[in-house]
Amino acid sequence: MSTPTPQKFEFQAEIKQLLDIVIHSLYTEKEIFLRELVSNASDALEKLRHTQLTEKDIFDDKLELEINVTTDDKAKTITIQDFGIGMTREELVQNLGTIAHSGSKAFLKAIGEGAQKNSNLIGQFGVGFYSAFMVAKSVKVYTHSWRTGEPGLVWESDGSGSYTIEEVEGQRRGAKIVIELKDDCTEFASDWKAKEILERYSAFVSFPITLNGKRINTVQAVWLRNKNEVKEEEYTEFYKFQAHGYDEPQLRLHFSADAPLSIHALLFVPKESTEKLGLARLEPSVSLYCRKVLIDAKPKDLLPEWLRFLKGVVDSEDLPLNISRETMQDKALIEKLNRVITKRFLKFLEEEAKNRPEGFETFYREFGVFLKEGAALDYTHKDQLVKLLRFESSLTEKGKYTTLGDYVTRMGSEQKEIYYLVGPNRASIESGPYLEGFKARNLEVLFCYESVDEYVMNNVREFDSKKLTGADHADVKLAEVPQAEGALAAADLETLTKWMKETLGERVAEVKSSDRLVDSPVLALNADKFMSPQMRRMMKAMNKEGGDSPLRVNLEINPRHAINKRLFALHTSAPEKAKLMAEQLLDNALISAGLLDDATAMVARLNKLLENI
Ligand code: ADP
Ligand code: MG
Repeated sequence: MSTPTPQKFEFQAEIKQLLDIVIHSLYTEKEIFLRELVSNASDALEKLRHTQLTEKDIFDDKLELEINVTTDDKAKTITIQDFGIGMTREELVQNLGTIAHSGSKAFLKAIGEGAQKNSNLIGQFGVGFYSAFMVAKSVKVYTHSWRTGEPGLVWESDGSGSYTIEEVEGQRRGAKIVIELKDDCTEFASDWKAKEILERYSAFVSFPITLNGKRINTVQAVWLRNKNEVKEEEYTEFYKFQAHGYDEPQLRLHFSADAPLSIHALLFVPKESTEKLGLARLEPSVSLYCRKVLIDAKPKDLLPEWLRFLKGVVDSEDLPLNISRETMQDKALIEKLNRVITKRFLKFLEEEAKNRPEGFETFYREFGVFLKEGAALDYTHKDQLVKLLRFESSLTEKGKYTTLGDYVTRMGSEQKEIYYLVGPNRASIESGPYLEGFKARNLEVLFCYESVDEYVMNNVREFDSKKLTGADHADVKLAEVPQAEGALAAADLETLTKWMKETLGERVAEVKSSDRLVDSPVLALNADKFMSPQMRRMMKAMNKEGGDSPLRVNLEINPRHAINKRLFALHTSAPEKAKLMAEQLLDNALISAGLLDDATAMVARLNKLLENI
């Protein structure tokens, strides 16, 4: 069957319109064309591999299954050659002359049931090829089908209304696509630019890719392999390559799912949090792939914000590779992926916490703050996250963690709330005045050391229907402990507190006898329910309004403490001295609470007191 050459064809009727969409608006970046053509080459090789299983008579059978890209910056061309299945004249017309026809889809149908599972075929929508016209003045497709009786052919078009097909001699099997670049797209004829694009999008294509003779893809798409067959070193190598990690990952989750979406994911937790080290806020860095081809290296909504420390890959066959990533349709899909992956990762953390508690605690020390952020802000996952939170407490040893769940099991029947204290470290909380009353009553208090903790505890609000309550909040009511011997009598106590309120004036909202003090003489409690000392400090640090509003505290005094008994005696016998003493006591309480802003007056007074010892 010989056809006069060249033969001219008109593109299918809708083609101009459709080409216009593809060229001008479907893709956000021009460089995508190379990803699409390499994906097509990979599909063509995959098809050949299938064909080889059943057909003996294959044209040019000795050729390697590989993809060769060459650039020529003088001629301003880029060429993508594969030794795949190639195309006959009819196939050229069908596959490249009809926009909505996807040969890959037809191929899948042809090889029958079960073929849908063949994730090695990238194409699905039959428009990727036309992305070449975003950058091309003209596109030539040299091809020879795997069928031995067929001629070599060249298809050519400038992407406007028509194309030609002509026979050529000496054509190897497969397809060679030569793109003559538009004047404003000549950068794609440079080796470095092509390298950058190939490495970004096509690093995991399963057939060897060379660029100007040099091999591009050397690392495998391990996420698609069975996890029992992947070696530790391979995971680490992949992590270093794909996530640009310099460390060894401390946790790894490799999983696949079929329903409700097809997902292959490989997620890593790095050793250290750079954000914790004070470096910039992390960007999402779990990359989105579709059948080994990169769709988006830093997809924003693939995972919730608080999982921004994760690295790795999510690959979903359900993603339409050819559809622009900003469309609404994609958004719903991304949300679905987000839900499935987040749920799976939380389950993974739960298992780690249960089965490898030490490893989990190492993780928590570094990344716990992200879980707290999630517990405070991500309403959907709050319940699961709260269970993962870890705290030291007045009942744990230094450096040992407990959970809210365990705390609740230790609560006495009369205890209604979960108590916590925020402070810079264990020693400062333990030596502060707030803890002793709780200790005397055998009430456990959780210790929080991070500045976000107050905010987190406020947002989490309750656990197991028990309110989370700051042990330094003024409205905490504690049960009576038996009055110790030698306390000031009730009437004297009333006189003393009244005198102290008059003496200290505006600096205190209230002075009263304390039921929570055991060893300390006085204690300052926050009079402002809505602004804890920690919050006030934070706002001050951030120069926020309210940070330096005049501070008023409730002062509680310990009726059993020797200092207060002495103060009671002095307030009538030596009122001047007693006044100095009362002021100093207030400042001492403020220092313990971390609330004394300016120590100048305090130091002057203290010197005066020392003079009279
Ligand atoms: P898709 O890849 O989604 O099917 P494309 O527009 O990218 O759509 O390609 C259209 C069709 O052209 C492919 O399905 C395939 O049949 C054919 N084709 C494209 N490139 C090649 C190639 N390098 N070798 C053989 N056939 C190809
Ligand atoms: Mg394609």
